[in-house]
Amino acid sequence: MKVIMLGAPGAGKGTQAKKIADKYQIPHISTGDIFRANIKNGTELGTKAKAYMDQGLLVPDELTLELIMDRFKEPDCKNGYVLDGFPRTIPQAEALTRALEEQGESIDYAVNVEVPDENIISRMSGRRACLSCGATYHIVHIPTKVEGVCDRCGEKLVLRDDDRPETVEKRLGVYHSQTQPLIEYYTSQGKLAEVDGTQEMEAVFEAIVKILGA
Ligand code: ADP
Ligand code: AMP
Repeated sequence: MKVIMLGAPGAGKGTQAKKIADKYQIPHISTGDIFRANIKNGTELGTKAKAYMDQGLLVPDELTLELIMDRFKEPDCKNGYVLDGFPRTIPQAEALTRALEEQGESIDYAVNVEVPDENIISRMSGRRACLSCGATYHIVHIPTKVEGVCDRCGEKLVLRDDDRPETVEKRLGVYHSQTQPLIEYYTSQGKLAEVDGTQEMEAVFEAIVKILGA
């Protein structure tokens, strides 16, 4: 199964993508996580990406596409994947469609997790991320057992630099101008499915499972 998660930053794409990956036994591929891992490891790609990410801008398509096309070559992708944060522009979506077509394939669903802008700022300012294993929490809605410590791997949690309110507003603007057009793109391909992302995490997941099949 090949699934794309669409939605504003902070809509809950990563939260749901991890649950989808567990249930359907497919890898969760987050371009944001891959960029952050590169930043942490001090790679050249990480240094390039950080300059854009810290400003709330998108990393250029060429860099992102090179990275994701390499990731698709890994053996764990043979039964599909859930994509979180990719594609984020029309050229990225077109490149993905072409790459899949060359292999006689296509994505199964683009799931749009719908959350209005007014809920996003509180979601993101309360988000706490584990840069070690990629887990995310929310200080109010999805708390950890011990404050500030990852339930999964025990590392210290951080507020991402790009989750500060001034950067979040910029990211929302970028989302509306560059990423939202993908809703129309996947609607016209007959692949779009919508879920109400303002519900509790488990209710959102149930709605997604109804779409993907149990
Ligand atoms: P995205 O991957 O779309 O940027 P995340 O999955 O990281 O978003 O979620 C953003 C923040 O909102 C996180 O702090 C997460 O724990 C929290 N969150 C996710 N889903 C829900 C939900 N259904 N209700 C409340 N908070 C949520
Ligand atoms: P995310 O973890 O999905 O919220 O992504 C964090 C940041 O990484 C974004 O604000 C972008 O700067 C960058 N990024 C992640 N995925 C992409 C992508 N597909 N295209 C361009 N930039 C991306």
